Amino acid sequence: MRARTLSTTVAGAAALALALTACGGGGGGDQADDGTITIGVKYDQPGLGLEEGSGQPAGFDVDVATYIAGELGYEPDQIEWTEAASANRETFLQQGTVDMVVATYSITDERKQLVDFAGPYYVAQQDILVQAENEDVAAAEDLEGRTLCSASGSRSAETITETMGIGAELRETQNYSECLQLLTDGQVDAVTTDNTILAGYAAQQAGEFKLLGLEMQEERYGVGLPKGSTERCEEVNAAIAQMYEDGSAEEFLNANFGEAEFEYSTEQPEADGCA
Ligand code: GLU
Repeated sequence: MRARTLSTTVAGAAALALALTACGGGGGGDQADDGTITIGVKYDQPGLGLEEGSGQPAGFDVDVATYIAGELGYEPDQIEWTEAASANRETFLQQGTVDMVVATYSITDERKQLVDFAGPYYVAQQDILVQAENEDVAAAEDLEGRTLCSASGSRSAETITETMGIGAELRETQNYSECLQLLTDGQVDAVTTDNTILAGYAAQQAGEFKLLGLEMQEERYGVGLPKGSTERCEEVNAAIAQMYEDGSAEEFLNANFGEAEFEYSTEQPEADGCA
């Protein structure tokens, strides 16, 4: 009986070793039944997640997501990309539209009621973007009585109007590229969101906009997961640690933000635990 238990254990261990080898250095290997993973990223944010018609988005979030998926055992061609706008990130995770969200998605207590987060994998700062020749807006306080654009579902605008109590007239759009259009057309005075996003737009249209360089609020980017994903969260955190250790994070940051007008850190942010 004893010998039998032992041999069962040995067989189990051998099977596990085989399964791990089959993952080709992956780690988890707990692939969905159809062998793909669906990841929500932004499609209109240069430097982070930008899709220009090929179906294959590019940017820092896309690189991070691809790396993490690789560590979970998915090859790039097993990733199905889906556009996740700020306002539908929670719903997508709750309804199972995506398995994971890597979309400039700040970890907040409010969102944690609805979804789980691994990470953070990067810490951005909230900033303000105005037209290059604008001399009137140099600080958040200057937005009093002026028009301010942000995307619905993001928390950037409420930092100014609620946390800071500044009486800006808010214009909410579906995504940030619409805000940029309104700013270009002179229909709003400023756009607020993360410096990563704003710097990406500024770099795309050199000389047209200026970033104020404010550090208004830390935006800790998490990997959004469906509620109750503790095990997956641990795997993602291990992948993020590995991504910083092997130099990939720095490579992704330099490749995507090298041209942008803001300073970024290449240090791994301290990870939150998985609940
Ligand atoms: N990171 C901020 C947030 O998650 C703003 C950017 C965005 O909406 O993606 O609310």
